[in-house]
Amino acid sequence: MLRTLAVAVLLSTASWAGAQDETYTLDEETVEIAHELAETALDSDLAWRITRSLTTEIGPRLAGTPQEERAREWAVAKLKSLAFDNVRVEPFELDLWTRGRSIYEEVAITAPYPQEVYGISLGGAAATPEQGLEAELAFFDSFDDLLAFEGVEDALEGKLVFVNDRMVAARGGEGYGWANRKRREAWREAEDRGAVGVLIRSVGTSSNRFAHTGMMGFPDGRLPEIPALAVSAPDADQIQRVHESGQTLRMRLRTYAGWRGEVLSGNVIADIEGAEAPEEVVIIGAHLDSWDTATGALDDGAGVGIVTAAARLIAESGHRPRRTIRLVLFGSEEVGLVGARAYANARLRDGTLENHVIGSESDFGARKVWRLSSNVGEHALPFFTAMHREMQHLGIVRGGNEGGGGPDMIPLQYMGMPVARLEQNGEDYFEFHHTPNDTLDKISPEEMAQNVAAWVMFTWFLADSEMDFRPQSEETVSE
Ligand SMILES: [Zn+2]
Repeated sequence: MLRTLAVAVLLSTASWAGAQDETYTLDEETVEIAHELAETALDSDLAWRITRSLTTEIGPRLAGTPQEERAREWAVAKLKSLAFDNVRVEPFELDLWTRGRSIYEEVAITAPYPQEVYGISLGGAAATPEQGLEAELAFFDSFDDLLAFEGVEDALEGKLVFVNDRMVAARGGEGYGWANRKRREAWREAEDRGAVGVLIRSVGTSSNRFAHTGMMGFPDGRLPEIPALAVSAPDADQIQRVHESGQTLRMRLRTYAGWRGEVLSGNVIADIEGAEAPEEVVIIGAHLDSWDTATGALDDGAGVGIVTAAARLIAESGHRPRRTIRLVLFGSEEVGLVGARAYANARLRDGTLENHVIGSESDFGARKVWRLSSNVGEHALPFFTAMHREMQHLGIVRGGNEGGGGPDMIPLQYMGMPVARLEQNGEDYFEFHHTPNDTLDKISPEEMAQNVAAWVMFTWFLADSEMDFRPQSEETVSE
C-alpha cells in the first residue's frame, strides 16, 4: 500500500505543471456559499472562545490522565451544545507515562561550581534513583558525534551524556524533524554506551530558560531505564562554555518520571451529515491532549477551536454539503499518535476506511494560514487550483502536492486516504511549543479568525464536491 502511494506521489509531482493547465469549474452556488461562510468566519470569535474555554476550564491535559478525560467530557458537552450530529467517544487503551511530582524537576551543575539549571524530563524517561544521581558530563556537540562515538571501552560508563544540536527557526517548522532526532534516539545511544542519564539541548527555538519536552522514540518497544531530560537553551549555552573551557562538568538530577500501566484514552467524534452522499466522509481534526507543562493553547487548543468553529459555521449556515463532515478531536497525539492509530484501525475494522475521501488536521498553532498544500491524485489538481483561486483573498498561496495532512492524518494517509493541509505561519511556533509558555495569550483572535475563514472554505469545497481525490488507476504504478 505504501509503495503504491509513494509511486503515485512521485508521478503527481512530475506532471504537476501539466495538470495546472487543465481547468476545473466549481459550481457557482458552492462558490457563493463558500464566500458567505468566509465572511461570517472573519467576523466570528467562536474559535477563540472555544480555545479559551478548553484551556481555562480544563487546563493541561496530558494523554491518559484524568485531565484528558475531563477534556473529553468538555468536548462532548461543547459539541452537543453546538448542535453536532452523533457526538460520541471512541475509547482506546494507552500505556500511561507521567512526570510524577511536578514540572519543576531538580537539575543542577555541581562542578566546577554549583548552578541550578532549568530542565525537564522527556516523555517516556525513567526516574533517577530516589535520592537522585550525580555524575560527570560527557559533552557531544551533535547527535551524529554521539552516534560516531566509539572511544575506549566503557568511556561513557557511569556518565551523563549531553547532546547539543541546535534547531533553526523557519516558517514551515522545517528544522524540527532534524532537531528531534536527538530527542527521540539519544537515550538508546547513551544507554547502550553505559551512561546513567542523557541530557539534550532543548528542542525548539526559544532563548528563554524554559525547556521543551516531548516524547522520545521507542521503535521496537524497548523503554528507557535511564532518566532523559531537555535543558533550556541558555543553560545549554552555559554548559557548552564550561565544557569549552576544559573544566570537568558534573551535574545532579532528581526526577520521578515513569510508566504507570494501562489506562483509557479516547477520540471525540461528531458529524455534520451530508445531504446527498452521507456515507462519504471529509475528516477534519485536531488533538485534545496537551503536554503537562502548560494549557496547550497553541498545541493544540487552537486547532480544536479552529476546526470546531469551521464545522459549526457550516452547520449553522443552513447549507448542508453533499458529503458528511466528520470532526475528530483526537486523544493521545503527543505520546505517539495513539488516538489517530486507534481511529484508523477502527475504520479498517468497520469497513468505512474507503469512504474517507480526504482529511486534514489543524495542529501548528494559531498564526495565519499562508499556503494550501495537498497530496491527492493528479486528476484532482485542477480542482485544488480552482479552490485555491477562491481562497487567495485570505493571503494564501498554493503549495505542492507531496505533503502530509497533519500528524493525526498520518495513519489514514498511510492506509491510502488523500490529504491536504492549510499550512500556518510557524516562524515563532517553536518558541512556545511543548514548553510552559504555550498559553492563551500567544493567540491573536484576528489571526485565528483568518484560519477559520480558510478552514470553512476548504471544508465546504471538499465536502460539497463529487471529486474522488484518490490517485486514479492510470496515475498509479502497481507491481
Ligand atoms: Zn500538536
